[in-house]
Amino acid sequence: MKPARLKFTMALAESLGLLDGVELLAPAAADRSDLLRIHTADYVEAVEHARQPVGAPQAPPFGLGSPDNPVFPGMHQAASVIVGGTLAAAQAIAEGRSRRAVSIAGGMHHAMAASASGFCVYNDVAVAISWLLDHGFDRIAYLDVDVHHGDGVQRAFYGDPRVLTISVHQHPATLWPSTGWPEETGAGAAEGTAINLPVLPGTRDAQWLRGFHAVVPGAVAAFRPQIVVSQCGVDTHREDPLADLALTVDGQRAAFRAMRDLADQYAEGRWLAVGGGGYGLVRVVPRAWTHLLATALDRTIAPDTAIPQAWIDQVRAAAPQVDPPRTMGDGGDIAYRPWDGPGGTGETGDPQLDRAERAIDTAVLATRRATFGLLGLDPEDPRD
Ligand SMILES: [Zn+2]
Repeated sequence: MKPARLKFTMALAESLGLLDGVELLAPAAADRSDLLRIHTADYVEAVEHARQPVGAPQAPPFGLGSPDNPVFPGMHQAASVIVGGTLAAAQAIAEGRSRRAVSIAGGMHHAMAASASGFCVYNDVAVAISWLLDHGFDRIAYLDVDVHHGDGVQRAFYGDPRVLTISVHQHPATLWPSTGWPEETGAGAAEGTAINLPVLPGTRDAQWLRGFHAVVPGAVAAFRPQIVVSQCGVDTHREDPLADLALTVDGQRAAFRAMRDLADQYAEGRWLAVGGGGYGLVRVVPRAWTHLLATALDRTIAPDTAIPQAWIDQVRAAAPQVDPPRTMGDGGDIAYRPWDGPGGTGETGDPQLDRAERAIDTAVLATRRATFGLLGLDPEDPRD
């Protein structure tokens, strides 16, 4: 979570001329009243006064000072500015100043009402969704493609039928935080508005995209959101050190474009994108989120675009042990066969591919059967 990954990203985007003529907002720290939309007063106070515990206890109060959530000087201020950035982006869209906005520092989707979790102190994206609910929006679709389950955001709106949360993530039996099962579907009046698609370790671009397209567009179309909020964590990459999926930057770019297109199709173009996880600080995050920025700007950076030498020199100086990437893609193959119902079109002839397809199709069907009926859709009909 070193801020260097954000610096490298902005430097790469600038070196490609991507940000020429683009309005950059300088965020202020979020007000306490906005933090309290999601977090308890006790917790905010604990963050403000936190000191790294000596001899780190196993379960420190509020999760502060655990190995995942070490206390650092200025933690409250830094976490509040992240919230302020995502809020500024949401406000620009709500006030009609922009159709789309991106907050790459945001996406702290694990933070809970009364605890830090998974490197996340304040849940900027849940705060922004709550703010949008109070400012004219009552149908918000939250799409989370981070490799980890978007548990904090799901929890915040689990009983709220105005927010559809969809998370595509590595299977909870194989990865922290061990939630995000298809059976988690929302509570009470919100049943059917939490959707979880867990995918197996080793899942590649083609299967991930097959699964995404078999679940997300149908649910978004049925929900008819006024805005799409996307958490764009890039720890799904095959090189990511914390998880086990096998996506390329090309596949991640395809996911961003798909989410943008859903916002265009169903939410009059309103799209708030935030960052998230991603621990390939030099080789993955800068390229992936530069593509995210390009996607939001309707500017195409082809995957075979050469990376400017000045950027390569800059990251070499900062991280001499890492071999910087040379092009904006990984040569990933993003062609995929669309899911076509439980009957299926049958085998491809490649046993390994067939196995991978059966695995994602099993997940798709479990997720659709758990939720699609609640949305008025047919779980088994590929046209839904
Ligand atoms: Zn993550």
